[in-house]
Amino acid sequence: MAQRLILTADDNMQIRMLVKAALRSLGHDLIEAVDGEQALEMAIEHRPDLVLLDVTMPKLDGWEVLHFMRQRPETAEVPVMMLTTAAQGSDLAHAAALGCNGYLTKPFTPTDLRQRVEQLLSG
Ligand SMILES: [Mg+2]
Repeated sequence: MAQRLILTADDNMQIRMLVKAALRSLGHDLIEAVDGEQALEMAIEHRPDLVLLDVTMPKLDGWEVLHFMRQRPETAEVPVMMLTTAAQGSDLAHAAALGCNGYLTKPFTPTDLRQRVEQLLSG
């Protein structure tokens, strides 16, 4: 697969490091945002091939980021996978209604993450 650009947005540095370590072997470029506002700005500026989005973040939460991304022409079609501990049925329904493309609950294994990322990038 050609090299792609992936944006990881999570306010927890440990999670960002886990994601980076898990995805390193895939050889894609990775950029990181530490809060929702930065995530939205970076998504619009860089138009990544995939966004991995935490839900609970400062400034804008993941739902708001997803909502605004879907309103903007630059990011309306960018695949988004929520990466979160929020795993109630209502959260999944909310995610689908907002137009998210995937949902991975924490804690995740590196293998899970790699598989889901490759699926979304090839889909
Ligand atoms: Mg968080």
